Amino acid sequence: RAKSCGRNQISFYETGMQSEVEQRLTVERELSEAISGGQLQMHIQPQVDRHGTPVGGEMLMRWTHPERGPISPAIFIPVAEESGMILRLGDWVMEQGCLALLQLQQAGWDIPLSVNVSPKQFRQVDFVEKVKQVLKNTGAPPARLILEVTEGLLIENLQDTIARMVELTKLGIRFSIDDFGTGYSSLAYLKKLPLYELKIDKSFVQDTPDDANDTAIVQSILSMASHLGLRVVAEGVETREQADFLIANGCASMQGFLFFRPMPLDKWLALQKQNSLSVSAFTPADTSLA
Ligand code: C2E
Ligand code: MG
Ligand code: MG
Ligand code: MG
Repeated sequence: RAKSCGRNQISFYETGMQSEVEQRLTVERELSEAISGGQLQMHIQPQVDRHGTPVGGEMLMRWTHPERGPISPAIFIPVAEESGMILRLGDWVMEQGCLALLQLQQAGWDIPLSVNVSPKQFRQVDFVEKVKQVLKNTGAPPARLILEVTEGLLIENLQDTIARMVELTKLGIRFSIDDFGTGYSSLAYLKKLPLYELKIDKSFVQDTPDDANDTAIVQSILSMASHLGLRVVAEGVETREQADFLIANGCASMQGFLFFRPMPLDKWLALQKQNSLSVSAFTPADTSLA
């Protein structure tokens, strides 16, 4: 898995290249070309409720390199973050997210879309202003925009982070903690931040319900979130057993290959035309919950 590659995350490049610095410069240059050359695309992965009906979606970046083919965001996002390129990517992603939101609304889906925001992007002095501007320019409804941030954002300048989140929350924007439970921050932030949602990281979900520890962790997160009034989305739901376990423990929303893979917006709209989105093949095992 790309995440576990750590420092060697760009080693997918030809070994002929001399140094890591040189490889990084190559990725940066190519990312820059990707932005201007239309090699980037946003996909959406629907999030579903316990009936399998889409109740939201996450915008995920896709990069198709002209020679190398698809490159995973798990590989290029960290490089972009380190080089500062994430700022240009982030602006583009925010705009694409707002445009997709409008298109979904026009097609009759009044549901929120989630956009990933990297720490560096969030910490830009004019981040709040930029978000306001994109909302204004696109006309997208802020109350349908969810920003996913990671616990890494909370390690420094907590007061400033809270202030920004509050300002954006006043516009109607909601906040979600992505990959919840994988960061190093304390749980104290949960009561300090204006949060709407927690996303249980897929590393906890993947071994439920067989692994006793992961099962306990997921149950505890669900219980804690319920007491704090936070919505929970479970990420990386791949099996029926995982979904049944999550539903039985009160998880409101799920995202994963069991339901839908990330897809272009056009595909979502085409599926809707065929009625393949609203009439889901998924029925919970425990019908008393339905
Ligand atoms: P994330 O935000 O936690 O996104 C969820 C990842 O899980 C996505 O990987 C998605 O394709 C994948 N996934 C969804 N369902 C399943 C499943 O059932 N099984 C498994 N194994 N995986 C599943 P993806 O698209 O490769 O993105 C990886 C990460 O890259 C994202 O993790 C996010 O941190 C980052 N990323 C992607 N797009 C953006 C973006 O536009 N902006 C920023 N800042 N980061 C992004
Ligand atoms: Mg995310
Ligand atoms: Mg995640
Ligand atoms: Mg992630």
